[in-house]
Amino acid sequence: MKKIVTVLVAAMVSVAAFAQPQVIAHRGFHATKGSCRNSIEALKQAQKMGLYGSECDINLTKDGVIVVAHGGLHPDKIYRKGEDIPRLTIQKSTYEELLTIPLENGEPMPTLEQYLTQLKKSKKTKLIIEIKDHATPERETEIVQKTVDMVAKFGLNDMVEYIAFRPWVCFELKRLAPEGTPIAYLNGDYNPAYVKGMGIAGIDYKFDVLKKKPHWIKDCHKRGLKVNVWTVDAEEKLRWVIEQGVDYITTDNPVLATKLIKEMCK
Ligand code: MG
Repeated sequence: MKKIVTVLVAAMVSVAAFAQPQVIAHRGFHATKGSCRNSIEALKQAQKMGLYGSECDINLTKDGVIVVAHGGLHPDKIYRKGEDIPRLTIQKSTYEELLTIPLENGEPMPTLEQYLTQLKKSKKTKLIIEIKDHATPERETEIVQKTVDMVAKFGLNDMVEYIAFRPWVCFELKRLAPEGTPIAYLNGDYNPAYVKGMGIAGIDYKFDVLKKKPHWIKDCHKRGLKVNVWTVDAEEKLRWVIEQGVDYITTDNPVLATKLIKEMCK
């Protein structure tokens, strides 16, 4: 009898183990000493942790340099709330102007070129590049073309994936990046059937969207689409997305995400 119970319990535990999602550090691993969002150090720290991916945001400056920064303003107003300091509009400033204000950890604002130089130092961690909205479709095509060319020049086609809120940016990435390059749509408003029709790899939706429509996760998988979710930091939410079987978790808390995955997954 005891043996049967043991076998039953073991079977239940194995049923309760979930598929293992991959962890992506949102704007790099920044919640550590000397690091900050979208810094070279944040990418280095994600590489040091051996994470699947490190996310970053890119914008085109007025003089055509691709910088790694969240935008629209530098310094980022979200993280300097209440501080009455002058800010530069990234897409309307030259790179030289942006360099006059260092990041929170003292680094100069990185260019994509500098980021790719660091990316190349590790074979494990991929760079998930978010291409931000720009003022015109022409500017968006310009940043897509320049990014795809630069990634190819570095020999990093297999180490880069793309995400974007604008359908236009997704379409331009699909047209200009090498075939099979993973591209995911961020805006949360298209259902899996529509995203499948866009011909891209999957969705990367906000936690609240998937919480309201958890059936989209299975629907995506049925259609061969991947599911990424942002930005999941709290333990309860991390547990929920792991239970739902998402493929990727984008988080500001990669340490906790990694720990819970180890505990809950096969
Ligand atoms: Mg982003």
